[in-house]
Amino acid sequence: MEKIGTVYLVGAGPGDPDLLTLRAARLIERAEILVHDGLIEPAVLALAPDNATLISVAKRRAHHTLPQEDICALLIREAQAGRNVVRLKGGDPFVFGRGGEEAEACRAAGVPVSVVPGISAANGAAAATQIALTHRDAASVVSFVAGQCKGLSDQDWAGLAGKGRTLVIYMGVKTAPAIAEKLMGDGLAPDMPLAIIENACRPQMRVLRGPLAALPDLVESGRVQSPALIVIGEVTAREDSALATLALEAQQ
Ligand code: SAH
Repeated sequence: MEKIGTVYLVGAGPGDPDLLTLRAARLIERAEILVHDGLIEPAVLALAPDNATLISVAKRRAHHTLPQEDICALLIREAQAGRNVVRLKGGDPFVFGRGGEEAEACRAAGVPVSVVPGISAANGAAAATQIALTHRDAASVVSFVAGQCKGLSDQDWAGLAGKGRTLVIYMGVKTAPAIAEKLMGDGLAPDMPLAIIENACRPQMRVLRGPLAALPDLVESGRVQSPALIVIGEVTAREDSALATLALEAQQ
């Protein structure tokens, strides 16, 4: 019987190569074939050996370079040909990364899969801005939601944001007006503080702050671009956070 390769679903973290796990870095440094999406920093890809085959399956909103089925088929085909495949994903593979779908497809095809966790954008952004996602005085619940997903208006976010809670919205730039409307419709105060963190853990990071009611305007006037997170809750406005300084720096 032919040898089957393993598919490694590897989290690349939010950008800075220093935020890779040692396991991720070792796998990248030894990769024969590396299949990556669009959010991976060039400095991370540069760790791959010169003779590695790098395949980009970059996804942009509403513009899929390679459909998901084709990505799964590619991983399976390469593994069945006996090659170990490093499937590199931004952040953590199992946080809005479609890692679950790819792992399922591999398992269904009898291809061994190994998952290497990564620092998700929420954790990276929290560290970079010094917004503590939980804080004994301000939040004991934190939720991660997708702002661009099947049927945003049907998603039940009631109770995820508000006093004592932190809501982190991934992929919410394009849908910011609908998100603000939805949350205020659920009863969230228009003056609930929020922070938008664009390009967290990358040299071009920007932080914008304001009340929930101003979210659409902040995104538009600040020309916020993906990748960005919207963090909603009292933790974003703590007097002792380093955010105020960072926000000032970003405006200069
Ligand atoms: N698996 C990834 C998320 C993929 S979904 C993770 O765990 O982080 C893509 C979304 O993640 C982007 O639209 C953005 O909301 C967020 N994101 C990824 N990298 C980011 C970064 N460096 N700064 C801010 N947001 C980021």
